[in-house]
This record gives sequence, structure tokens and C-alpha cells, in this order.
Amino acid sequence: MTPSNPVAEEAPTDGQESSPDVAEAERTTNPESALATARRQLERAAAHTDVDPGVVERLKHPTKLQQVSVPLRRDDGSLDVFTGYRAQHDDVRGPYKGGLRYHPEVDGTECIGLSMWMTWKCAVMDLPFGGGKGGIAVDPKGLSEEETERLTRRFAEELRDVVGPKKDVPAPDMGTGPQEMAWFMDAYSMQQGETTPGVVTGKPPVVGGSYGREEAPGRSVAIITREAIDYYDWDVEETTVAVQGFGSVGANAARLLDEWGATIVAVSDVDGAIYDPDGLETNDVQDHDERPGMVSGYDAPETLSNAELLELDVDVLIPAAVGEVITAENVDDVRADMVVEGANGPTTFAADAILEERGVPVIPDILANAGGVTVSYFEWLQDINRRQWSLERVHEELEREMLDAWEAVRTEVDDQDLTWRDAALVVALSRIGGAKETRGLWP
Ligand code: GLU
Repeated sequence: MTPSNPVAEEAPTDGQESSPDVAEAERTTNPESALATARRQLERAAAHTDVDPGVVERLKHPTKLQQVSVPLRRDDGSLDVFTGYRAQHDDVRGPYKGGLRYHPEVDGTECIGLSMWMTWKCAVMDLPFGGGKGGIAVDPKGLSEEETERLTRRFAEELRDVVGPKKDVPAPDMGTGPQEMAWFMDAYSMQQGETTPGVVTGKPPVVGGSYGREEAPGRSVAIITREAIDYYDWDVEETTVAVQGFGSVGANAARLLDEWGATIVAVSDVDGAIYDPDGLETNDVQDHDERPGMVSGYDAPETLSNAELLELDVDVLIPAAVGEVITAENVDDVRADMVVEGANGPTTFAADAILEERGVPVIPDILANAGGVTVSYFEWLQDINRRQWSLERVHEELEREMLDAWEAVRTEVDDQDLTWRDAALVVALSRIGGAKETRGLWP
């Protein structure tokens, strides 16, 4: 835990709004950062559309980046101040939507890049949402539960003017989960004077959350992997899979693919990977959230490092842990025949180009893990209607939405001979561009 700015006394903070100069931000950031990557991907895909260049230019810039100071009274009585952000990229199709992450490396530029991916993700899924992303630069492992609650409540207060069910709807992301969303919703509701479940999604079902939301990103990764296996005429029973990251996304994806007949040869957590060429019993391996440390502690024939897992000679590699893990440095050692992105941004722009040259399909995050935001949309509908759906209904509707999105992207792949990422972006950009051109520029 690294407090950004310890201070002696607590003072209310005002959210500072800024219109960041994205070009400047990009010059000063790592060329493989989320923002730099998102902008290069946008430019590349836009060339395959007839979206107006002015619209493409607008999409390179976020509408707004909110930066706030979040003071926290520690359990020992001392006080630390952390920096929080909310990037709102575009809302032409509906409220900004996207997660809040608690991670030491969160910064405004990264949030802008991640919020751009949310705009594309919602558009690929044809959801009536735009893109947002935010978070606090904090190591959540360095906070007690009470401190996490106080930090989350204060963050909700600092963001109160810019969020809301019709404006911007946060959700869980790295380092946050259903409990943080419940605290966020409660803090917002208390200040608004009315229970407002639709202000965030990913809540526990008892306070307006949707059944199936937590498993949804992993479930969509599995559905899309299954469709991709079918597209390339492989047999799922003959398909070997390695999954980096055995948290919610990786574990749910691995277990479903295992159930559908694939052989999951390796899974990992931050401490390392377990490997069994005959296939792991994925239900017997407790995921990182169920019991941290249990993945690498599992009694498997072989253990590997996370880097070695990425180099396994498997049919499908699913990076489902963090961003920027397949890079120009290690891509030559990646031997998988297909990559399905479970995490957001696991493949850098340079690595992506090399995989394309080698003819290795990369099924992008904005399609593969979009089940999370799709069930968030279902949750938002349930909150507005005050009517909960059954888990069966969530699964059925998610399956249908994923297949519709897959079909839209597959059509672009086949018709225009595009990569899967370009095709997904073309689908998204056509929808966003159409909405922008039809609404026009105000005033
Ligand atoms: N954080 C998730 C994502 O990256 C979910 C966002 C949401 O449900 O709004 O897709």
C-alpha cells in the first residue's frame, strides 16, 4: 500500500474536472499503455469503415476525466489520502459504463484507455451504454475490510455528481467486487435520499444484483472460445487449453470449457501455474478468490511459472489475469494456435501484429469477456424494473447476446478478411459512428 499523499488533517475535497490533452498524455506514456494501444487500434480499424474522420478524431478523446482525492481514516487513527479517477469516454449510445479498479498502478491515462475499450465493448454487444472506467491508486491487500468500506463510501461521495443510473454506471473490476458495489450503492443512495440500485452493477443479488453476474465474463469467454473452435473446424474434445489467471474470469471459463469437453492442461495464479498434459480436474482446483494460493499449492504433476504457461504448445491460450502479458518480447515464444483474451488488454499492439503475421487468431477482449457488462445491462434493467430474473433466464439471454455479437463480428471477418480485433472494432465503430453522425455535433 502506497498512500499517495499522507496529510495531517481531513478536509473535504472537490472533484477536479479536466479535459486532458490526450495527445500530450500519449507522448508522455508508455507506447504500449492502454491509451496508446486503444488509440492505435481505433485508427487501424477505422480505415476499414466509412465512419467520418471527425467522428474518429472525437473518439480519440474522452468526454471527461474526473480526478478526486479520497481521504481515508486508517484503523489506527492516522489519515491517508488516495487519488481516484473516473474516465468517461463516450455516451452517444447511453450512460457511461465500466468498472472501478483498486490497484496501485491506476492512473488517469490508463483509465481513459480502458474506458475507450468499454465504449467499443458495449457497442459490439449492442448495449445502450457508452464507456467509462475508474478506480483508486491503492493496493487493496493493504486495507482492512473496514478501511475498504470507508474508502469506497468516500469515493462514492466524491463521484456522486458524475455517476447515476442515467449518467454513468460503475461496476466491479480488478480489486473490487460485489461488496464494494453494495457499499458504493448504499453511500450514493443515502445521500440521494432514495434507494438507487441502478447506480452500479455487480452488486450482490440481495441488494438488486443479478444472478449470474459474477460468472458472466468467464462464461462469455467460454462461449466465444467454443464458437471459435467450431469456426476453425476443431473438435472441442481434442482441444487443449491453458488459462493464465484462475480468478473469477479464468476459473469460470476453464470449468465450463472442461465441462464441454476441452482439456484444460494448465491454470495459474499470481504465484505460478500447475500443468497436467492429460488435463486438470478444474472443479477440484479452488480459484484464487475462493482460496488464494491454492492454485499453485495444488498437487499437479508439474508446476510452471506464469511466463512458461504463456509458452505452452496448446490449441487455445486464454490470458485472463492482467493486461499487457503478451508483448513484443515474449510473443515469439507463444506457441498456442489461438489466443482468446479473458483479461482487458492482455496483448500489446506490437504483439498483436506479430501474431497476425503468424496467422494466429486473437479473439479480442471486447468480444470475449463482454459477458460481464452484458449481465450488468441485465442487472440495470432488473433494477429499473424492480424485478429479478432467474439464473436460467440470465444464462439464456447471455447466450443469445453472445451469439448475436459473435455473428456480427464473424461476418466482418469473413466479408472483409479482417482480424477478429479489427472486425469487432468495425462492428462497434459502425454503430457508434452511425449514432454520432445522426445526432450531430452540439451546438
Ligand atoms: N469491469 C468489467 C469489464 O471490464 C465490467 C464492466 C461493467 O460491468 O460495467 O468489462
